[in-house]
Amino acid sequence: MSNLMRLKVFAATLICALVLAGCSTATGETNDSKEDEQNEQNDVQPIAVQGAMDVEISALLDEMKDYKEEQHGNYTFYTGKIADTPVVVSRTEVGMVHAAASTTVLIEKYNPKAIINQGTAGGHDPDLHVFDTVIGTEVMNIGNMRTEHLDDEQGMKPDKWLFMSTGMREDGEEVEYESFESDPELVKIALSVADQYKYGEVVEGKVGSADFWNREIDRIQWFHENAGTSVEEMEAASVAQVAKGFNVPYLSVRTVSNSEVSEDNIEDLETAGQYGAEYAVDIVKAMSK
Ligand code: SAH
Repeated sequence: MSNLMRLKVFAATLICALVLAGCSTATGETNDSKEDEQNEQNDVQPIAVQGAMDVEISALLDEMKDYKEEQHGNYTFYTGKIADTPVVVSRTEVGMVHAAASTTVLIEKYNPKAIINQGTAGGHDPDLHVFDTVIGTEVMNIGNMRTEHLDDEQGMKPDKWLFMSTGMREDGEEVEYESFESDPELVKIALSVADQYKYGEVVEGKVGSADFWNREIDRIQWFHENAGTSVEEMEAASVAQVAKGFNVPYLSVRTVSNSEVSEDNIEDLETAGQYGAEYAVDIVKAMSK
């Protein structure tokens, strides 16, 4: 290479480096302003309300009237306002895995100040009737179980199955939870508007969650007696666990849509979903005050 060529290559390299440096500064500024915008949006943290199925969120969407729909993976989020307060309604889809995944996305993308998980449930407490609503002060993963050893041909003994606790890592320490609690302040707010619920009783109780729909009365009674569950459904404990992991206040509210242990003989997810979501609207309004 001649000296002249060397000089030209050096000059070209220098120009490229300068251009790139300029570009990266410009990109840096764009990122910063995007971040500022995001932070500004996050200044007003929305209240999140989840339902697994359309019938459990449609009353909330009706109340918002205008909303923006956003899709992240399998999960749909609707952002708008109820009583002038920013709300994100989240359709989690059915089951524990969907509930956990969509709650993680919800927290990461929307930074909610509280999560209300609400919807339908099956009765475990014989005193509960279809369309009564349970404020789940406590929620438990009732699918988290183990068995003792039994030998070949000794059969299956479901009534001997044992509940396992859930381990959380808090400040580096493993902490075991038998169940998770709804935020006491949110429970208070939900109770404060319970008299507006006209479709049945509102009671405090324990919500059991698993990827399971139980219709065996002995099994339902076994859960009621051994876990103290009032109702069963498929999302609450999973959401509560994730919310706990991110320190987001959580509330469980479930309207009974079916029960094998009351005399109602009704299975109506659509109506119960509507009633529960209307109650959730009242709770959001009370939280906005
Ligand atoms: N996709 C189905 C319905 C699923 S039902 C369909 O439309 O045919 C399961 C949903 O209802 C879950 O979100 C669960 O939380 C709730 N649920 C209501 N009653 C339940 C019960 N007895 N046991 C378990 N989940 C129940």
